Amino acid sequence: MDSYKLVFSKNIDQSSFVSPCPICKTNDNEYLLSATTSYLKKKMRGYRCKFCHTFYWQDPMIIGYEEKPGEKMHNYKNDISFIHYLMIGAGIEFGIKFLNSIKNKKKNLSLLEVGSSFGYNLDYWSNYKGFFSQGLEKSRFGVFGKKILKINIANKYLEEFNAKKKYDVVLSTDVIEHVKDPLGFINAAKKVLSSRGLIMISTPDASYINSSTDYSQLLGILSPGYHVNIFSTSGIKQLFIKAGFGHIRIQQKNGQILVIASKFSLKNRIRLSENRAEYIRYLNFLSTHNNEMVAEGSRFRYFKELVNLSKYSEAFRIYQIIINKLSVKYYFDFSSLHDRNLKSECFLKDLPPYIGPFFFYSGIMQKHLNASHEVIVMYFSLALTFLKNTVKSAPHISVEASSLIEPAKQFLIESTANYLKFNEYSK
Ligand SMILES: [Zn+2]
Repeated sequence: MDSYKLVFSKNIDQSSFVSPCPICKTNDNEYLLSATTSYLKKKMRGYRCKFCHTFYWQDPMIIGYEEKPGEKMHNYKNDISFIHYLMIGAGIEFGIKFLNSIKNKKKNLSLLEVGSSFGYNLDYWSNYKGFFSQGLEKSRFGVFGKKILKINIANKYLEEFNAKKKYDVVLSTDVIEHVKDPLGFINAAKKVLSSRGLIMISTPDASYINSSTDYSQLLGILSPGYHVNIFSTSGIKQLFIKAGFGHIRIQQKNGQILVIASKFSLKNRIRLSENRAEYIRYLNFLSTHNNEMVAEGSRFRYFKELVNLSKYSEAFRIYQIIINKLSVKYYFDFSSLHDRNLKSECFLKDLPPYIGPFFFYSGIMQKHLNASHEVIVMYFSLALTFLKNTVKSAPHISVEASSLIEPAKQFLIESTANYLKFNEYSK
Protein backbone atom coordinates (compact mmCIF):
# COMPACT_ATOMS: atom_id res chain seq x y z
CA MET A 1 0.00 0.00 0.00
CA ASP A 2 1.09 3.57 -0.69
CA SER A 3 2.50 5.63 2.15
CA TYR A 4 2.46 9.39 2.51
CA LYS A 5 4.17 12.04 4.60
CA LEU A 6 3.05 15.65 4.61
CA VAL A 7 5.06 18.31 6.44
CA PHE A 8 3.68 21.82 6.88
CA SER A 9 6.40 24.40 7.21
CA LYS A 10 6.63 28.03 8.21
CA ASN A 11 10.29 28.19 7.20
CA ILE A 12 11.30 30.03 4.10
CA ASP A 13 12.14 27.57 1.38
CA GLN A 14 15.86 27.50 0.54
CA SER A 15 15.49 26.07 -2.97
CA SER A 16 16.76 28.54 -5.53
CA PHE A 17 13.89 28.99 -7.96
CA VAL A 18 10.16 28.99 -7.49
CA SER A 19 8.00 29.35 -10.57
CA PRO A 20 5.32 32.07 -10.62
CA CYS A 21 1.65 31.35 -9.92
CA PRO A 22 0.30 29.35 -12.88
CA ILE A 23 -2.99 31.27 -12.74
CA CYS A 24 -2.20 34.93 -12.13
CA LYS A 25 1.55 34.74 -12.94
CA THR A 26 2.68 36.75 -9.90
CA ASN A 27 5.90 35.83 -8.10
CA ASP A 28 4.55 36.57 -4.65
CA ASN A 29 4.17 33.14 -3.08
CA GLU A 30 4.70 31.31 0.20
CA TYR A 31 6.12 27.86 0.85
CA LEU A 32 3.38 25.76 2.47
CA LEU A 33 4.28 22.09 2.71
CA SER A 34 6.27 19.17 1.38
CA ALA A 35 5.00 15.74 0.41
CA THR A 36 6.95 12.49 0.32
CA THR A 37 5.21 9.38 -1.00
CA SER A 38 6.20 5.78 -1.63
CA TYR A 39 5.37 6.07 -5.34
CA LEU A 40 7.16 9.34 -6.23
CA LYS A 41 10.95 9.46 -6.57
CA LYS A 42 11.39 12.95 -5.13
CA LYS A 43 10.01 15.15 -2.39
CA MET A 44 7.42 17.56 -3.78
CA ARG A 45 7.14 21.14 -2.59
CA GLY A 46 3.83 22.98 -2.55
CA TYR A 47 3.37 26.77 -2.72
CA ARG A 48 0.48 29.14 -2.32
CA CYS A 49 0.11 32.26 -4.40
CA LYS A 50 -0.26 35.21 -2.01
CA PHE A 51 -2.38 37.04 -4.53
CA CYS A 52 -5.01 34.54 -5.78
CA HIS A 53 -4.40 31.77 -3.17
CA THR A 54 -4.01 29.00 -5.73
CA PHE A 55 -1.91 26.09 -4.44
CA TYR A 56 0.61 24.60 -6.86
CA TRP A 57 3.38 22.03 -6.79
CA GLN A 58 6.86 23.04 -7.86
CA ASP A 59 7.92 20.82 -10.82
CA PRO A 60 5.07 18.34 -10.30
CA MET A 61 5.67 14.73 -11.26
CA ILE A 62 2.47 13.51 -12.81
CA ILE A 63 1.59 9.84 -12.83
CA GLY A 64 -1.89 9.99 -14.34
CA TYR A 65 -4.53 7.30 -14.69
CA GLU A 66 -4.33 6.34 -18.35
CA GLU A 67 -4.06 2.59 -18.90
CA LYS A 68 -2.21 0.55 -21.43
CA PRO A 69 -4.68 -1.46 -23.50
CA GLY A 70 -4.71 -5.05 -22.32
CA GLU A 71 -6.68 -7.79 -20.71
CA LYS A 72 -7.57 -5.57 -17.73
CA MET A 73 -9.48 -3.30 -20.10
CA HIS A 74 -12.17 -5.92 -20.70
CA ASN A 75 -12.52 -8.24 -17.77
CA TYR A 76 -14.48 -6.23 -15.24
CA LYS A 77 -15.84 -9.22 -13.31
CA ASN A 78 -12.50 -9.84 -11.55
CA ASP A 79 -11.46 -6.22 -11.23
CA ILE A 80 -11.24 -5.64 -7.47
CA SER A 81 -11.09 -1.84 -7.53
CA PHE A 82 -13.95 -1.70 -10.02
CA ILE A 83 -16.15 -3.99 -7.90
CA HIS A 84 -15.45 -1.87 -4.85
CA TYR A 85 -16.39 1.23 -6.87
CA LEU A 86 -19.75 -0.26 -7.85
CA MET A 87 -20.58 -1.66 -4.41
CA ILE A 88 -19.75 1.34 -2.25
CA GLY A 89 -16.97 3.58 -3.58
CA ALA A 90 -18.63 5.55 -6.38
CA GLY A 91 -19.96 8.94 -5.30
CA ILE A 92 -23.14 8.89 -7.40
CA GLU A 93 -24.88 11.58 -5.38
CA PHE A 94 -22.54 14.47 -6.16
CA GLY A 95 -22.94 14.43 -9.97
CA ILE A 96 -26.71 13.93 -9.92
CA LYS A 97 -27.18 16.81 -7.48
CA PHE A 98 -24.84 19.02 -9.50
CA LEU A 99 -26.70 18.30 -12.75
CA ASN A 100 -29.93 19.07 -10.94
CA SER A 101 -28.75 22.64 -10.39
CA ILE A 102 -30.01 23.13 -13.96
CA LYS A 103 -33.62 24.24 -14.05
CA ASN A 104 -35.09 22.18 -16.83
CA LYS A 105 -38.27 20.20 -16.94
CA LYS A 106 -38.69 18.92 -20.47
CA LYS A 107 -36.25 20.31 -22.97
CA ASN A 108 -33.75 17.81 -24.33
CA LEU A 109 -30.47 19.42 -23.34
CA SER A 110 -27.41 17.64 -24.69
CA LEU A 111 -24.62 16.82 -22.25
CA LEU A 112 -20.91 16.27 -22.76
CA GLU A 113 -19.09 14.94 -19.70
CA VAL A 114 -15.31 15.23 -19.71
CA GLY A 115 -13.80 12.52 -17.48
CA SER A 116 -17.03 10.59 -16.99
CA SER A 117 -15.46 7.55 -15.27
CA PHE A 118 -17.98 4.65 -15.29
CA GLY A 119 -20.73 7.04 -16.39
CA TYR A 120 -23.50 7.27 -13.79
CA ASN A 121 -24.13 10.92 -14.75
CA LEU A 122 -24.50 9.95 -18.41
CA ASP A 123 -26.76 7.03 -17.53
CA TYR A 124 -28.93 9.38 -15.46
CA TRP A 125 -29.06 11.92 -18.29
CA SER A 126 -29.82 9.44 -21.10
CA ASN A 127 -31.34 6.24 -19.71
CA TYR A 128 -33.26 7.83 -16.84
CA LYS A 129 -34.23 11.24 -18.29
CA GLY A 130 -34.10 10.35 -21.98
CA PHE A 131 -31.76 13.17 -23.08
CA PHE A 132 -28.69 12.96 -25.29
CA SER A 133 -25.27 12.52 -23.69
CA GLN A 134 -21.67 11.83 -24.62
CA GLY A 135 -18.82 10.96 -22.26
CA LEU A 136 -15.04 11.11 -22.60
CA GLU A 137 -12.95 8.83 -20.39
CA LYS A 138 -9.44 7.43 -20.73
CA SER A 139 -9.53 4.87 -17.91
CA ARG A 140 -10.91 1.32 -18.16
CA PHE A 141 -13.96 2.37 -16.11
CA GLY A 142 -15.20 4.21 -19.20
CA VAL A 143 -14.86 1.03 -21.27
CA PHE A 144 -16.88 -0.87 -18.63
CA GLY A 145 -19.54 1.85 -18.44
CA LYS A 146 -20.03 1.94 -22.19
CA LYS A 147 -20.64 -1.82 -22.18
CA ILE A 148 -22.65 -2.19 -18.94
CA LEU A 149 -24.71 1.02 -18.89
CA LYS A 150 -25.04 1.18 -22.70
CA ILE A 151 -24.07 4.85 -22.99
CA ASN A 152 -21.79 6.82 -25.34
CA ILE A 153 -18.26 7.02 -23.95
CA ALA A 154 -15.26 7.71 -26.18
CA ASN A 155 -11.78 6.70 -25.01
CA LYS A 156 -10.45 10.21 -25.64
CA TYR A 157 -9.19 13.38 -24.01
CA LEU A 158 -11.13 16.57 -24.67
CA GLU A 159 -8.35 17.84 -26.98
CA GLU A 160 -8.52 14.64 -29.07
CA PHE A 161 -12.30 14.65 -29.34
CA ASN A 162 -13.64 15.65 -32.71
CA ALA A 163 -17.07 17.01 -31.74
CA LYS A 164 -19.64 16.83 -34.52
CA LYS A 165 -22.05 19.07 -32.63
CA LYS A 166 -22.24 21.68 -29.87
CA TYR A 167 -23.47 20.74 -26.40
CA ASP A 168 -25.91 22.56 -24.11
CA VAL A 169 -24.03 21.41 -21.01
CA VAL A 170 -20.36 20.55 -20.59
CA LEU A 171 -19.76 18.87 -17.22
CA SER A 172 -16.42 17.98 -15.69
CA THR A 173 -16.07 16.85 -12.09
CA ASP A 174 -12.60 16.63 -10.54
CA VAL A 175 -10.60 16.86 -13.76
CA ILE A 176 -9.24 20.41 -14.08
CA GLU A 177 -6.87 19.97 -11.08
CA HIS A 178 -5.07 17.22 -13.08
CA VAL A 179 -4.54 19.39 -16.15
CA LYS A 180 -1.26 21.23 -16.84
CA ASP A 181 -2.96 23.97 -18.87
CA PRO A 182 -6.28 24.70 -17.11
CA LEU A 183 -7.08 27.77 -19.25
CA GLY A 184 -6.52 25.65 -22.38
CA PHE A 185 -8.89 23.08 -20.89
CA ILE A 186 -11.67 25.64 -20.31
CA ASN A 187 -11.14 27.05 -23.80
CA ALA A 188 -11.40 23.57 -25.32
CA ALA A 189 -14.66 23.03 -23.41
CA LYS A 190 -15.93 26.40 -24.62
CA LYS A 191 -15.32 25.35 -28.25
CA VAL A 192 -17.83 22.49 -27.97
CA LEU A 193 -20.39 24.50 -25.95
CA SER A 194 -23.51 25.94 -27.60
CA SER A 195 -23.81 29.74 -27.48
CA ARG A 196 -26.21 29.74 -24.51
CA GLY A 197 -24.60 26.63 -23.01
CA LEU A 198 -23.59 25.98 -19.41
CA ILE A 199 -20.17 24.80 -18.36
CA MET A 200 -20.12 23.03 -14.97
CA ILE A 201 -16.92 22.19 -13.15
CA SER A 202 -16.03 20.89 -9.70
CA THR A 203 -12.54 20.81 -8.22
CA PRO A 204 -10.91 20.54 -4.75
CA ASP A 205 -10.90 23.73 -2.69
CA ALA A 206 -7.49 25.23 -1.82
CA SER A 207 -8.89 26.87 1.32
CA TYR A 208 -8.94 23.39 2.91
CA ILE A 209 -5.16 23.05 2.65
CA ASN A 210 -4.16 23.63 6.25
CA SER A 211 -2.98 21.50 9.14
CA SER A 212 -6.41 21.39 10.82
CA THR A 213 -8.14 19.62 7.89
CA ASP A 214 -8.82 15.89 8.40
CA TYR A 215 -5.71 14.02 7.19
CA SER A 216 -7.40 11.68 4.70
CA GLN A 217 -9.42 14.55 3.23
CA LEU A 218 -6.23 16.61 2.96
CA LEU A 219 -4.45 13.77 1.12
CA GLY A 220 -7.39 13.53 -1.29
CA ILE A 221 -7.23 17.26 -2.00
CA LEU A 222 -3.45 17.37 -2.47
CA SER A 223 -3.06 13.99 -4.27
CA PRO A 224 0.67 14.46 -4.90
CA GLY A 225 1.57 12.99 -8.29
CA TYR A 226 -1.99 13.36 -9.59
CA HIS A 227 -3.06 16.95 -8.97
CA VAL A 228 -1.17 19.83 -10.59
CA ASN A 229 -3.04 22.86 -9.19
CA ILE A 230 -5.54 23.19 -6.38
CA PHE A 231 -7.70 26.21 -7.06
CA SER A 232 -9.05 28.94 -4.86
CA THR A 233 -12.39 30.53 -5.67
CA SER A 234 -10.66 33.67 -6.94
CA GLY A 235 -8.14 31.65 -9.00
CA ILE A 236 -10.80 29.62 -10.78
CA LYS A 237 -12.93 32.73 -11.32
CA GLN A 238 -9.99 34.46 -13.05
CA LEU A 239 -9.67 31.52 -15.44
CA PHE A 240 -13.32 31.65 -16.47
CA ILE A 241 -13.17 35.42 -16.95
CA LYS A 242 -10.04 35.02 -19.10
CA ALA A 243 -11.87 32.39 -21.15
CA GLY A 244 -14.63 34.91 -21.85
CA PHE A 245 -17.43 33.79 -19.53
CA GLY A 246 -19.31 36.81 -18.20
CA HIS A 247 -21.72 34.95 -15.90
CA ILE A 248 -20.17 32.78 -13.23
CA ARG A 249 -21.62 31.19 -10.09
CA ILE A 250 -19.16 29.78 -7.58
CA GLN A 251 -20.05 27.71 -4.50
CA GLN A 252 -17.87 26.11 -1.83
CA LYS A 253 -19.10 22.79 -0.43
CA ASN A 254 -17.30 20.23 1.77
CA GLY A 255 -13.84 20.83 0.36
CA GLN A 256 -15.04 21.29 -3.22
CA ILE A 257 -15.50 24.34 -5.44
CA LEU A 258 -18.47 24.16 -7.83
CA VAL A 259 -18.52 26.47 -10.83
CA ILE A 260 -21.35 27.09 -13.28
CA ALA A 261 -20.56 29.54 -16.08
CA SER A 262 -22.14 30.81 -19.25
CA LYS A 263 -21.84 33.64 -21.75
CA PHE A 264 -25.49 34.45 -21.01
CA SER A 265 -27.17 35.34 -17.75
CA LEU A 266 -27.70 32.42 -15.36
CA LYS A 267 -30.85 33.99 -13.97
CA ASN A 268 -33.80 31.53 -13.93
CA ARG A 269 -31.57 28.85 -15.43
CA ILE A 270 -30.08 27.36 -12.28
CA ARG A 271 -31.61 26.60 -8.89
CA LEU A 272 -30.17 27.62 -5.58
CA SER A 273 -31.38 24.75 -3.40
CA GLU A 274 -30.38 21.10 -3.70
CA ASN A 275 -32.69 18.52 -5.20
CA ARG A 276 -31.95 15.39 -3.20
CA ALA A 277 -35.21 13.60 -4.02
CA GLU A 278 -34.10 13.21 -7.63
CA TYR A 279 -30.95 11.36 -6.52
CA ILE A 280 -33.06 8.93 -4.48
CA ARG A 281 -35.43 8.32 -7.42
CA TYR A 282 -32.41 7.59 -9.62
CA LEU A 283 -31.08 5.09 -7.04
CA ASN A 284 -34.43 3.33 -7.09
CA PHE A 285 -34.17 3.17 -10.89
CA LEU A 286 -30.62 1.74 -10.68
CA SER A 287 -31.55 -0.82 -8.03
CA THR A 288 -33.44 -2.84 -10.65
CA HIS A 289 -30.68 -2.57 -13.29
CA ASN A 290 -30.22 -5.67 -15.44
CA ASN A 291 -26.52 -5.76 -14.57
CA GLU A 292 -26.60 -7.44 -11.15
CA MET A 293 -23.41 -5.72 -9.92
CA VAL A 294 -24.82 -2.25 -10.67
CA ALA A 295 -28.13 -3.24 -9.06
CA GLU A 296 -26.45 -4.67 -5.95
CA GLY A 297 -24.42 -1.54 -5.16
CA SER A 298 -27.42 0.72 -5.83
CA ARG A 299 -29.79 -1.35 -3.68
CA PHE A 300 -27.56 -0.81 -0.67
CA ARG A 301 -27.32 2.95 -1.37
CA TYR A 302 -31.10 3.16 -1.87
CA PHE A 303 -31.74 1.24 1.38
CA LYS A 304 -29.48 3.61 3.31
CA GLU A 305 -31.28 6.70 1.94
CA LEU A 306 -34.68 5.22 2.86
CA VAL A 307 -33.52 4.62 6.45
CA ASN A 308 -32.13 8.17 6.62
CA LEU A 309 -35.50 9.47 5.38
CA SER A 310 -37.33 7.39 8.05
CA LYS A 311 -39.22 5.48 5.30
CA TYR A 312 -38.98 2.24 7.23
CA SER A 313 -41.62 0.11 5.51
CA GLU A 314 -40.12 0.71 2.03
CA ALA A 315 -36.67 0.22 3.61
CA PHE A 316 -37.84 -3.14 4.96
CA ARG A 317 -38.97 -4.24 1.49
CA ILE A 318 -35.50 -3.45 0.07
CA TYR A 319 -33.86 -5.05 3.12
CA GLN A 320 -35.60 -8.33 2.35
CA ILE A 321 -34.44 -8.24 -1.27
CA ILE A 322 -30.86 -7.56 -0.09
CA ILE A 323 -30.94 -10.44 2.44
CA ASN A 324 -32.27 -12.77 -0.27
CA LYS A 325 -29.61 -11.79 -2.76
CA LEU A 326 -26.89 -12.09 -0.08
CA SER A 327 -27.90 -15.67 0.65
CA VAL A 328 -27.76 -16.59 -3.04
CA LYS A 329 -24.55 -14.80 -3.96
CA TYR A 330 -22.48 -15.08 -0.78
CA TYR A 331 -24.13 -18.11 0.93
CA PHE A 332 -24.88 -15.73 3.73
CA ASP A 333 -26.81 -16.83 6.79
CA PHE A 334 -27.12 -15.17 10.19
CA SER A 335 -26.15 -18.20 12.27
CA SER A 336 -22.69 -18.55 10.73
CA LEU A 337 -21.76 -14.86 10.60
CA HIS A 338 -20.07 -14.62 13.98
CA ASP A 339 -17.77 -17.55 13.19
CA ARG A 340 -16.42 -16.16 9.97
CA ASN A 341 -12.72 -15.55 10.08
CA LEU A 342 -12.38 -12.47 7.88
CA LYS A 343 -9.29 -11.59 5.93
CA SER A 344 -8.86 -8.53 3.78
CA GLU A 345 -9.81 -10.28 0.50
CA CYS A 346 -13.01 -11.61 2.05
CA PHE A 347 -14.91 -8.39 1.57
CA LEU A 348 -15.21 -8.73 -2.16
CA LYS A 349 -15.23 -12.49 -2.64
CA ASP A 350 -17.14 -13.75 0.39
CA LEU A 351 -19.06 -10.71 1.55
CA PRO A 352 -19.82 -7.34 -0.02
CA PRO A 353 -17.85 -4.29 1.21
CA TYR A 354 -21.10 -2.61 2.31
CA ILE A 355 -21.96 -5.37 4.81
CA GLY A 356 -20.90 -3.36 7.92
CA PRO A 357 -22.86 -0.21 6.97
CA PHE A 358 -25.77 -2.47 5.88
CA PHE A 359 -26.06 -4.01 9.37
CA PHE A 360 -25.76 -0.58 10.93
CA TYR A 361 -28.69 0.85 8.94
CA SER A 362 -30.62 -2.42 9.42
CA GLY A 363 -30.23 -1.95 13.18
CA ILE A 364 -31.70 1.55 12.98
CA MET A 365 -34.57 0.26 10.83
CA GLN A 366 -35.32 -2.62 13.24
CA LYS A 367 -35.30 -0.20 16.17
CA HIS A 368 -38.03 1.86 14.48
CA LEU A 369 -39.98 -1.22 13.41
CA ASN A 370 -40.12 -2.21 17.10
CA ALA A 371 -38.11 -5.42 16.78
CA SER A 372 -37.21 -7.19 20.03
CA HIS A 373 -34.26 -5.86 22.03
CA GLU A 374 -32.39 -9.07 21.33
CA VAL A 375 -32.68 -8.60 17.56
CA ILE A 376 -31.54 -4.97 17.74
CA VAL A 377 -28.50 -5.98 19.83
CA MET A 378 -27.62 -8.59 17.21
CA TYR A 379 -27.64 -6.05 14.35
CA PHE A 380 -25.48 -3.47 16.08
CA SER A 381 -23.07 -6.11 17.30
CA LEU A 382 -22.72 -7.49 13.75
CA ALA A 383 -22.37 -3.94 12.43
CA LEU A 384 -19.55 -3.18 14.84
CA THR A 385 -17.67 -6.41 14.03
CA PHE A 386 -17.92 -5.90 10.28
CA LEU A 387 -17.20 -2.17 10.33
CA LYS A 388 -14.01 -2.77 12.31
CA ASN A 389 -12.94 -5.57 9.95
CA THR A 390 -13.64 -3.44 6.89
CA VAL A 391 -11.44 -0.62 8.18
CA LYS A 392 -8.70 -3.08 9.15
CA SER A 393 -8.72 -4.74 5.73
CA ALA A 394 -8.71 -1.58 3.59
CA PRO A 395 -8.23 1.67 5.56
CA HIS A 396 -7.73 3.92 2.50
CA ILE A 397 -11.17 3.09 1.07
CA SER A 398 -13.17 2.78 4.28
CA VAL A 399 -14.18 6.36 5.02
CA GLU A 400 -17.85 5.47 5.43
CA ALA A 401 -17.20 2.37 7.58
CA SER A 402 -14.83 4.25 9.88
CA SER A 403 -17.32 7.10 10.37
CA LEU A 404 -19.98 4.61 11.57
CA ILE A 405 -17.91 2.79 14.22
CA GLU A 406 -18.59 5.29 17.05
CA PRO A 407 -22.34 5.58 16.40
CA ALA A 408 -22.55 1.74 16.17
CA LYS A 409 -20.87 1.47 19.59
CA GLN A 410 -23.34 3.93 21.10
CA PHE A 411 -26.34 2.08 19.66
CA LEU A 412 -24.92 -1.24 20.89
CA ILE A 413 -24.50 0.08 24.43
CA GLU A 414 -28.01 1.56 24.40
CA SER A 415 -29.69 -1.55 22.97
CA THR A 416 -27.81 -3.90 25.32
CA ALA A 417 -28.97 -1.81 28.30
CA ASN A 418 -32.55 -2.01 27.03
CA TYR A 419 -32.24 -5.76 26.56
CA LEU A 420 -30.93 -6.29 30.12
CA LYS A 421 -33.59 -4.01 31.61
CA PHE A 422 -36.33 -5.85 29.72
CA ASN A 423 -35.07 -9.27 30.88
CA GLU A 424 -34.95 -7.98 34.46
CA TYR A 425 -38.65 -7.05 34.33
CA SER A 426 -39.79 -10.28 32.66
CA LYS A 427 -38.19 -12.55 35.32
ZN1 LIG B 1 -2.04 33.54 -8.27
